[in-house]
Amino acid sequence: MIIIGGGPAGLMAAETARAQGIDVDLYEAKGSVGRKFLIAGKGGMNLTHGEPRPAFDGRYGERAREIGAWLDDFDATALRNWAHHLGVDTFVGSSGRVFPSDLKAAPLLRGWVHRLRESGVRFHVHHRWLGWRGDGAWHFATADGESFVHAGAAVLALGGGSWPQLGSDGAWQAQLVARGVDVAPLQPANCGFDIEWSAYLSSRFAGAPLKPVAARLHDASGRTPMLQGECVITQSGIEGSLIYALSARLRDAITRQGYAILELDLAPDRTLDRLRHDLAKPRASRTLSEHLRRQAGLAGVKTALLHEVLEPAQRHDPEILARTIKCLSLRLQRARPLAEAISSAGGVRLEALHDALMLTALPGVFCAGEMLDWEAPTGGYLLTACFASGYRAGMGAAHWLKARATA
Ligand SMILES: Cc1cc2nc3c(=O)[nH]c(=O)nc-3n(C[C@H](O)[C@H](O)[C@H](O)COP(=O)(O)OP(=O)(O)OC[C@H]3O[C@@H](n4cnc5c(N)ncnc54)[C@H](O)[C@@H]3O)c2cc1C
Repeated sequence: MIIIGGGPAGLMAAETARAQGIDVDLYEAKGSVGRKFLIAGKGGMNLTHGEPRPAFDGRYGERAREIGAWLDDFDATALRNWAHHLGVDTFVGSSGRVFPSDLKAAPLLRGWVHRLRESGVRFHVHHRWLGWRGDGAWHFATADGESFVHAGAAVLALGGGSWPQLGSDGAWQAQLVARGVDVAPLQPANCGFDIEWSAYLSSRFAGAPLKPVAARLHDASGRTPMLQGECVITQSGIEGSLIYALSARLRDAITRQGYAILELDLAPDRTLDRLRHDLAKPRASRTLSEHLRRQAGLAGVKTALLHEVLEPAQRHDPEILARTIKCLSLRLQRARPLAEAISSAGGVRLEALHDALMLTALPGVFCAGEMLDWEAPTGGYLLTACFASGYRAGMGAAHWLKARATA
């Protein structure tokens, strides 16, 4: 059997099928496997999340039921045990996110690839899958020219379309669509958004963190609950974990109505009444910035945002100031491009797959990981679903091969 794509989903499919006694050849376009996994480990990898089920499943939104079924076989606890067997212990951070004890991905990946090689998985790097030859052989471009491979079963774990420089560029979409597979176009998920800032704000405050802050989406169907967290002003808009958490809804609102309204609470730890009262105190000869700092605890980028959205006369009205601090509206124009996003939405629709993740249109071909049509917030939910689907596809492919061998 062959696996194409050496990210966490493909490696897990390889490990699972090999443990079932299947011969496994893994093909990877880049010169090494797991490049996105390594990047995910850079700022402290969230391997999974400590949230109990079924709340955990709920993070997959409309796909909670299907992904919940994958998690029945391989969940966050299984993932932590798996890491432990590779000699990497994990801990639950204060946010509930689960990290490797040294926060890094590299030792985990090194140990894993070593164990896979020892178990007999054969790695073929610099093999880029291009499609099929007329006789059904899998067609690869390699450093030494073209190569064609026949396989009894295949797991595709080709990733989504974010950070294409790491290998997953979404080029597989055209190949699968041409074979009758139903694919939802890839879209940015866990992404930033563009806002038309003034030249002053973008030149002076790009890179400025906004914290603590709370945010919600306001659209025709109402307002989502306020979420507290952190985000960053960028030259072209806004990004960061708080924005990522809202990004699916913001993106969908933009698709529906051409823009999205993000409401920020710049002082989540103060009530409107307190701000009203404090800001109404006499300013004497103090500047507005000093008044805001003393009476509302605001400074820097938060003050600049008030200047950005309020007319000069409004800035001197304590009632308007207090209300705007608690609910500052920003108009988001578009999501940042997929290449910059942390992950992708869209991909092979789950309805195009059997329960074992085999494509209905291509018997013997299984899919796993981010190339499937689901999305989730950051915080370990992405990798967990990649591992769980890799496990399911590897198991499915192994059973399929065994069933055919005995038929
Ligand atoms: C900056 C960043 C930080 C992240 N942090 C976290 C985090 O902390 N926690 C978390 O849960 N998730 C995180 N993620 C997301 C997580 O890394 C991905 O969801 C996960 O790597 C997807 O796994 P995958 O195996 O499906 O695909 P990928 O990891 O993208 O692997 C796909 C592989 O397929 C190969 N490939 C693609 N096309 C071909 C082809 N035609 N032929 C051969 N090979 C091909 C690619 O080279 C690649 O190696 C982060 C992502 C980014 C970008």
